[in-house]
Amino acid sequence: MRILVVGGAGYVGSHTVAHLVAAGHDVTVYDDLSTGHAESVHGCRLVVGSLHDTDRLTTLMREGDIDAVMHFAAFALVGESVTDPAKYYSNNVAGSLSLLEAMRAADVRRLVFSSTTATYGQPEHVPIRETEPQQPINPYGFSKLVVERMMADYAAAYGLGYAALRYFNAAGAAASGQLGEDHDPETHLIPLVLKVALGQREAVTVFGDDYDTPDGTCIRDYVHVDDLADAHARALEQIEDGSGLCVNLGSGTGASVWEIIEACRSVTGHNIPANAGPRRAGDPPRLVADVSLASRLLGWQPRHSVIEHIVATAWRWHASHPLGYRSAPGTG
Ligand code: UDP
Repeated sequence: MRILVVGGAGYVGSHTVAHLVAAGHDVTVYDDLSTGHAESVHGCRLVVGSLHDTDRLTTLMREGDIDAVMHFAAFALVGESVTDPAKYYSNNVAGSLSLLEAMRAADVRRLVFSSTTATYGQPEHVPIRETEPQQPINPYGFSKLVVERMMADYAAAYGLGYAALRYFNAAGAAASGQLGEDHDPETHLIPLVLKVALGQREAVTVFGDDYDTPDGTCIRDYVHVDDLADAHARALEQIEDGSGLCVNLGSGTGASVWEIIEACRSVTGHNIPANAGPRRAGDPPRLVADVSLASRLLGWQPRHSVIEHIVATAWRWHASHPLGYRSAPGTG
């Protein structure tokens, strides 16, 4: 298939592009490089452009005879979405509308969209199933939910076929060793802990150790980025005109913040100092996916569900790329 991957230079996007290229698809990446890295795009064309440029996207889809679009281009920091919601509504909502309009103009009817567990807000039932009410508690989660609704309306009215993939905590790095996580600023737990092991940070702060969980710290479901990539390729095959599928993508198991730190100590051999600090606003105590629907609809099973293994792939990337994609080739 000829696939346009919007946001394909980002973390999950670049891993998915590598997966699609390896499977023989003809891929074009479209990215504004605001958070993505040109160095992460291999084996396909990279077009640098804005999600808001509907005409350019339309032309690209028409001239490239594009069969399907994958859409990863979004800002994804919960805290920032609270302090700067305009950025989130502009890019994540208005930008996605621009993309949908370009698809409609170019008559491209298949879309795989990066959605998120943040659309559920504070779920009542854990493990979380797709039937859980979607009541996001921050602008980031709401911006993704709006796009899910837009896609459903476009499916009903214009025949769009789509998949909304609700990621839990994306983690790890490609088996190839060439791709990994590189955010600036970094806010995610596993890379922050590994940066302590690298000597780039002094200690980890645990955001709250008085939650109602076995060790008092928050539990999350860490899913390997290569498993996410695989799910995207599978979702593309299942999409049908005029309908949508919405599925959770997680490992199906939870790990607490202390368990993550312990896993990082065991993988790196470093005595990573960690201190308990105050809770971070808006953190639900426990978010774990029920992934049975993804298994049923996509035939998908996460292959990396052991947290030490996920951390080991991340460590390989960070140790060999201490400055992320800015690291000189061959360092480490
Ligand atoms: N966390 C932490 N210290 C940090 C960063 C994160 O204790 O320096 C916790 C955070 O409160 C959450 C978990 O680690 O419970 C995962 O956070 P992350 O930001 O990686 O992902 P999120 O769950 O927010 O998408």
